[in-house]
Amino acid sequence: MIPAAFGATVPLTPLDAWLERALPAGDGTLPERILQAQLAELRRLLDYVRERSPFYAEYLAGRPLCLASPADLARLPFTEAGHLREWKKFLCVSHSEVRRVVTLDTSGTSGSPKRLAFTESDLAATRDFFRIGLSELVRPGERLGVLLPGGERPDGVADQLRQALNLRGAEVESLPAAVEEPEDMAAWVTKGKFHCLVALPGQLRALLSLLPKAPAPLRSVLSSADCLDPLFGGALRKAWGCDLRDHYGLTESAYGLGVECAAHDGYHLRSLDIFTEIVDVRTDAPLPPGETGEVVISTLRREAMPLVRYRTGDAACFLPGPCRCGSPMPRLGPIQGRIERALGGAFLVRPPKGRMGRAGRAAAPEQAALLRQAAATAPSRADIAPGGTP
Ligand SMILES: [Zn+2]
Repeated sequence: MIPAAFGATVPLTPLDAWLERALPAGDGTLPERILQAQLAELRRLLDYVRERSPFYAEYLAGRPLCLASPADLARLPFTEAGHLREWKKFLCVSHSEVRRVVTLDTSGTSGSPKRLAFTESDLAATRDFFRIGLSELVRPGERLGVLLPGGERPDGVADQLRQALNLRGAEVESLPAAVEEPEDMAAWVTKGKFHCLVALPGQLRALLSLLPKAPAPLRSVLSSADCLDPLFGGALRKAWGCDLRDHYGLTESAYGLGVECAAHDGYHLRSLDIFTEIVDVRTDAPLPPGETGEVVISTLRREAMPLVRYRTGDAACFLPGPCRCGSPMPRLGPIQGRIERALGGAFLVRPPKGRMGRAGRAAAPEQAALLRQAAATAPSRADIAPGGTP
């Protein structure tokens, strides 16, 4: 914990202690030790997928797979969302070991559906992240209301939250699928007497319009699954007087990837489960903190369908410097939009103010700008040293 502005203090993210506990004993700073652990996991990942995944056995054939540092991963090709149409070729376990298969949004596309598969161990790792990520927001014995869609779906994201928080002694209820109208949702939230809510930004916007004051005893909110407009986030904090945190995750990251601490200054990442890169959309080269590019993830310790250098299509940057909570770990900045590729170029599609995200991108991208403009000052591939990856 370090002093924040105006004499207040910001508690250290609980993720750092969680990461520390998972590391073998050793010397060096937490980021240095995490990097060493990531290197070992990346080497294991490449061996694992080459041996077990027909897709990667073919895709990585003849590629340089000797990693001297995690930055060497940049020599490998990207996995694209379209590749997931061949999801069965990604499988590294038998079908009987698969606990859950998720079909990704296929709006506007045709062909075989893109799917992801998870084992129980894959889902348990996500629950562990949820348990730690929400530990500051929900105390044992308190009530958590989950408004995310699909609450009744076994092993869906809402169910994962329920399982994770039940372990901490919290009571978890999901919004019934039959509740669709905003007024009914507000009534459910009020009646539920929740201490914490997990909801989409759009749901929170609807709730704020109907509930100008926080329904007692609510004191914390986690926004998830779509991007949170910072202006709206500030308005909700002010009106409800609650601790509002933003979470970033996608199905490909097994739902969870990063979560804000009390400083609200970027997402702290589940760095031992997912290796995150930011790459220049022109040159594909890794970018240093402060420069915006595409978020690329490699899953570590994933059993069913590990992904190597998967292009998420989300635009963001790593934030420079340590967090105000005192964490020295790299943080991911806010998602700035979606990267769309067309006509030989890459475009950053920014969401309209107050609307958003991965789920909303097909609805109405009203403002587009060449990401090249944002990346115009980025160094070329040749200018970036192998150690430049955060
Ligand atoms: Zn922090």
